[in-house]
Amino acid sequence: MNESYVHSFSAMGTVVSIQVVGHGANDHQRADRQSAVERATEWFLDIERTCTRFDPSSELSRLSTRVGEAVPASAMLFEAVRFALAVARESDGAFDPTMGRSMESLGFDREHRTGEPVRSAAVVATGATWRDVVVDEDDRTITVRRPLVLDLGAVAKGLAIDMAARELAPFVNFAVDAGGDLYLGGCNASGEPWSVGIRHPREPELIERVFVSDIAVCTSGDYERIGRAGGDEPGHHILDPQTRRSSAAAASVTVLAPAAMVADALATAAFVLGPARGLALLERHGVDGLIVTPDLERFTTPGMRSDYKAGHAHER
Ligand code: AMP
Ligand code: MG
Repeated sequence: MNESYVHSFSAMGTVVSIQVVGHGANDHQRADRQSAVERATEWFLDIERTCTRFDPSSELSRLSTRVGEAVPASAMLFEAVRFALAVARESDGAFDPTMGRSMESLGFDREHRTGEPVRSAAVVATGATWRDVVVDEDDRTITVRRPLVLDLGAVAKGLAIDMAARELAPFVNFAVDAGGDLYLGGCNASGEPWSVGIRHPREPELIERVFVSDIAVCTSGDYERIGRAGGDEPGHHILDPQTRRSSAAAASVTVLAPAAMVADALATAAFVLGPARGLALLERHGVDGLIVTPDLERFTTPGMRSDYKAGHAHER
């Protein structure tokens, strides 16, 4: 058994826990380990500050208000927006990072630390979609063409997990857990592939267990973050852009991918697409996943059925 170092903190509305296995043999190793974990932590705080729609002065919020201007973007904001737009395109708009105002009006309008309600200033154009946001790869600018509220809630956490994992890569064996969205590097303290339980969307039990190394595992579930929904029926936090209401196409989607940003966003996209189109999206991008429907039917990619059983994780 290898001793582990664990650091937990709060960011992006959840508890983030970083674990490094071993590397605690002497003061020098422990100092290296601690400073890598500090840099990993800083990525979460930095990306949250940049990409939150809950702070009117964040880079994301300021971008949303500069309609028609090609705004130079920081590396992290550019990467998150560029990737979100690519997923929007790939999913035929089932994934759409411009639904901030709909999120707000359904009750997802409170900063998680202060509890303060936000109301974005912009008057929003009706029918604005991801197609109204354009990135310029050469100039690294982003143009919001019509008034809308950007929401990077389905990519920012994945991006932060990936940046944290990059800091921890020299330690080989580590885990980043951001409220159940994970990156698992190498092996656990027992020298085995990491064992990850996938929650049943309706019962307090697991629906699946996978054994993994060097992969991200992200889940989108309808049981998280039930909104106040402004007097209407309460809804969950994944919206179908066509109806601008909570999507009923799935109960939970788990995606395994080499990068957490990919797993995070594709889980949200597949959730809205539902089992048939969702599985097609995952397979087209060469990632594995499990989709559970509201009536608890399970749909899995072929790899999900065979590649992550105990003892098989190393054979991939
Ligand atoms: P996740 O928990 O990763 O599925 O992400 C859900 C978050 O993504 C929500 O809290 C919103 O911030 C945002 N979101 C909701 N619906 C969508 C959608 N259809 N496309 C893109 N982002 C969305
Ligand atoms: Mg997600």
